[in-house]
Amino acid sequence: MSLRNRLILTTVSVSLSLFLVTILIFTLIVKHHMDKNVEQIYGEVLKTYTFAQKAVAKSAGDVSFELPECSVRRASTYITFFGNRLLVGRVENCKFYGTDFLKVLDFTVSVKELNWLIIYDRYVLERLGEKEPEFFDRFIAGKTVLDDSVIEGKYSPDVLQSLQISTGYRLINGFKTLVIDVPIVVDNSIPVGRVVFVKDFSETLRELIFTPLVFLFYTFILVVALSTVLFLMFNRLVSDITMLKNMAYRFKELDFSDIPKLNEHLRKEKTRDELFTLKRSVLTMAQELEVHINQLKSEKEKFEELAYRDPLTGLNNRRFFEEEAKALIDLSKRYKEPLSLILMDIDNFKRINDEYGHDVGDLVLKQLAEVIRKNLRSSDISARFGGEEFIVLLPKTDDRGAFMVAERIRKDFRNSSVKVNGKEIWTTVSLGISILEEGDDLETLIKKADSALYEAKREGKDRVVVFKYKEEGQGQG
Ligand code: GH3
Ligand code: MG
Ligand code: MG
Repeated sequence: MSLRNRLILTTVSVSLSLFLVTILIFTLIVKHHMDKNVEQIYGEVLKTYTFAQKAVAKSAGDVSFELPECSVRRASTYITFFGNRLLVGRVENCKFYGTDFLKVLDFTVSVKELNWLIIYDRYVLERLGEKEPEFFDRFIAGKTVLDDSVIEGKYSPDVLQSLQISTGYRLINGFKTLVIDVPIVVDNSIPVGRVVFVKDFSETLRELIFTPLVFLFYTFILVVALSTVLFLMFNRLVSDITMLKNMAYRFKELDFSDIPKLNEHLRKEKTRDELFTLKRSVLTMAQELEVHINQLKSEKEKFEELAYRDPLTGLNNRRFFEEEAKALIDLSKRYKEPLSLILMDIDNFKRINDEYGHDVGDLVLKQLAEVIRKNLRSSDISARFGGEEFIVLLPKTDDRGAFMVAERIRKDFRNSSVKVNGKEIWTTVSLGISILEEGDDLETLIKKADSALYEAKREGKDRVVVFKYKEEGQGQG
């Protein structure tokens, strides 16, 4: 996987997990607060409800009295009637300890949106009324009378629908509703009905959830912004690394075309960090490398030049000639094509040196080189063979052709002079020709040409002689 893909994957997964963790934390916070809220209310209700256990005669509203014909009760906590008052409390040793139930209800008023209901069993009430005929009518005044129950309290109408749920504490519709359901039992364990507290938590939940939602929203924005900044930062890093990598590949192939680009890049760069230093070092290194390589290249060219060229005349040297000539001789032999060789030597050259000096001699040498160059085809190879001797190899050329070329060189050289201090110096050259024959190699070919050249000198110089096996050479003037 490329560095950039890894970067994208990392950024996306880090931001996603960060966001998920935030959601999880907020969910836990909401649940915790909700539970606390529920427990607090439930606890308050129960505390108030059971306080009578300890609050005997502690305040004006608290009561305690002996129960007549006391027997064992099933419920330990009671809501009971005493005269016209509804009391809540508990029984111990047939003594009732308790408080006015209105005190309990006072608390419910303090809890926002808490519904409370006292649901009396209508059948029990009617039975109680048998002893005192007006009791029932008096009792139901201002209360809701249903088929099987009489209800009083402070509640919203829809709460009546959820009252099928029996005694206990539970949440209805998820978080929404808390129901606390307590039985009412009177003397002799007659179940009179129930007291029900119903707390709708949807509003609380809305309040509880709203803040975290806002938080979550800002967290999301923050995570996105942070990821973007992080991505951009690392992306620049990756770009720089990729650039340096490409540069390294280029340098390996000795391609320095990226140097101006890097230079431009560095000029624009504002941050002078470690990467900047690295890039600048690479740039410096590349520039130095380029200079060294160019130096090496020109040195190499110079050496090649020196190895194959005669510095005075600019013609090839003997070494180059021998390498090339051998290959051409092999080719001519293979394809059975003619090939000729001309060896030449300036006449009376020693005298020129002696008379006019070595520099003038050099000029004459250059002059002959120029004449040779002018009279050859591009396929011919010429060279300074040593001292004032020159050699020419003519591929695909027979004795007639070679003779024509040699003659042209001889005449051209004879007709051209060197001017020194207004004085003209004329010289001539002698040439020997050999033709490639079966069994010949470069060595024998040169030997034959040399022998023809010797013949030319012997016959009076300034002439061309073609090698013949007969003892006598052929002179031309
Ligand atoms: P011949 O006609 O028989 O060839 O007589 P020559 O004087 O040319 O023969 P010789 O071989 O005796 O002389 C060659 C001279 O060429 C000797 C040497 O000083 C001179 N020479 C060799 N190389 C150079 C060179 O590079 N520059 C100059 N100026 N002279 C050179
Ligand atoms: Mg000589
Ligand atoms: Mg000579």
